[in-house]
Amino acid sequence: MCGIVAYVGSKPCQQLLIEGLKRLEYRGYDSAGCAVIQNGKLHIVKAVGRVANLEDKLEGIGNFTGTTGMAHTRWATHGGVTEINAHPHTDDKVGIAMIHNGIIENYAALKTYLEEKGHTFKSQTDTEVLAMLIGELYEGDLEKAVQAALREVTGAYAICVICEKEPETLVVARKGSPLIVGVGSGEYIVASDASAIVSHTTQAMTLADYNVVKITPKGFRTSTIHDVPVTPKIEQLELELQEIELGGYQHFMRKEIFEQPKALRNSFRGRFDPKEGRVILGGLADHAKELNKVTRIILTAQGTALHAAMIGQYLFEDLAKIPARAEYASEFRYRNPIIEDGTIVVAVSQSGETADTLAALSEAKDRGALALGVINVVGSSISRETDAGVYLRVGPEIGVASTKAFTGQVAVLTMVALFLGRRRFMSGEQCGELLRALETVPEKIEKILTQDEVIRKITMKYCERENWLFLGRGYNYPTALEGALKLKEISYIHAEGMPAAEMKHGPIALINEGMPAVFIANKGRQYEKVLSNIQEVRARGGHVIAVATEGDEHIRRYAEDVMYVPDIPEPLSPMLTVVPLQLLAYHAAVIRGHDVDKPRNLAKSVTVE
Ligand code: GLU
Repeated sequence: MCGIVAYVGSKPCQQLLIEGLKRLEYRGYDSAGCAVIQNGKLHIVKAVGRVANLEDKLEGIGNFTGTTGMAHTRWATHGGVTEINAHPHTDDKVGIAMIHNGIIENYAALKTYLEEKGHTFKSQTDTEVLAMLIGELYEGDLEKAVQAALREVTGAYAICVICEKEPETLVVARKGSPLIVGVGSGEYIVASDASAIVSHTTQAMTLADYNVVKITPKGFRTSTIHDVPVTPKIEQLELELQEIELGGYQHFMRKEIFEQPKALRNSFRGRFDPKEGRVILGGLADHAKELNKVTRIILTAQGTALHAAMIGQYLFEDLAKIPARAEYASEFRYRNPIIEDGTIVVAVSQSGETADTLAALSEAKDRGALALGVINVVGSSISRETDAGVYLRVGPEIGVASTKAFTGQVAVLTMVALFLGRRRFMSGEQCGELLRALETVPEKIEKILTQDEVIRKITMKYCERENWLFLGRGYNYPTALEGALKLKEISYIHAEGMPAAEMKHGPIALINEGMPAVFIANKGRQYEKVLSNIQEVRARGGHVIAVATEGDEHIRRYAEDVMYVPDIPEPLSPMLTVVPLQLLAYHAAVIRGHDVDKPRNLAKSVTVE
């Protein structure tokens, strides 16, 4: 789930490992550790908390000069956040150390088996069980022992394994969790995320599920867990170093909020022609025939991506007239969903590694659905599982709280809805009109961003309050959910988002003197209704902050504070209305003194179910 960096080569690797972990810090973690083989001996250091704590400990010991090593940031799934549970884990026989992202699902049965064989465990983790199993199966060849152990395992993993008996060998493998092998000259850097590799090499090999790679300074060999050789595919990493650096911004989240105009321009490039009223999505072209016959769309996702998917639901029904439903991937997967002929399932995920979404997608495919992906990370697990898809092209998102990926997801879903609508009932003229409006989204976001200081001042007035409501209707009901989620994620303020009409069916009981209620009250079909809902809050002493359409002075009679967004056709409005809410959450977190890019308990991509 979290971070992996490993090295084999001729250079002392400790520094590189720590720098790599720092590049992965954004993913969220609770403890860190590293193992280096030096003079044929395994040295392991672990620390709870920040990578900086691990660094301090290493300095205290005097730093290692070994040239084979690996490091890990853990996001605990099995066993509390303690030094003992932090990785690397070792066996008790051979001198094996292992780091692991993911979950070994059958760890309990394997643990019983190993205990019966006389092994004793130090930690509560599932990871230690696999390390022990590799040790148990070791017969003088680490690669073979890893393959054999993985044949016994169910679950998800990206692992790196080293062994005192083979001091220049690193064996890595993956199933369901990302892992990339960076290929340098006479050295190899393995990481769970390209950002820990690009400053060393841009040549890299992405592993497929069940691939095992044995790496030494002299070269590498790729096989499956059944020892069938695999021809490696080395590719150029597209990531630019500046894309993963702060570049003058205080936080990645802020950088990414401000990057949205550029990111969306990039996402739009070459994908539509307003004059002709045409949407050109290469990723869907091969499936045009099946797409013409679609009778139902299920969008599936988690977290922020689910909110984008919910907007997608409105877009598909409104613009393409196809029945659509967005739902939690975690629920979809286990509820025996009905997939009929003509159903397509659209998986939405920034990382393309979200375990729940991946599992839902496989379930839908098994039941015969055509699987589409709306993904940011090229080559990710979900993108490989889908039949077709459209990449976001918004650049790497480092901030744990998703911002530009959200607007990117909504933008892509809009293009897909128009693509489908155009093949059904929509005229070129109708489509062209919306595309012309879509083209203006980046400049309109630029305009909203100039209000940063106004939004900060509004946030200042209320950010001591511990309970907030976010309310919207129609297209902006999911935006309300997203606004509430942003505030929760980084400010740790309790916030609830809901349809504005739902409030009076229960949650209205929460409203007391001074409670902030953020209404998305832009001009649209339900504007008057939203004004009535605002009155209901005001009558009970709540403070209303409205997101409204530029030029709407009338709203000031209803709301204490107003954050304006430019006018745009309603289906496109969430891409604008969400921006003030992102800034509001950002400022609240900064004012309250939180580390915006490392929110407590959160991980960037949730690769466990
Ligand atoms: N399941 C393992 C643990 O709890 C690995 C967690 C991770 O991916 O960081 O230790």
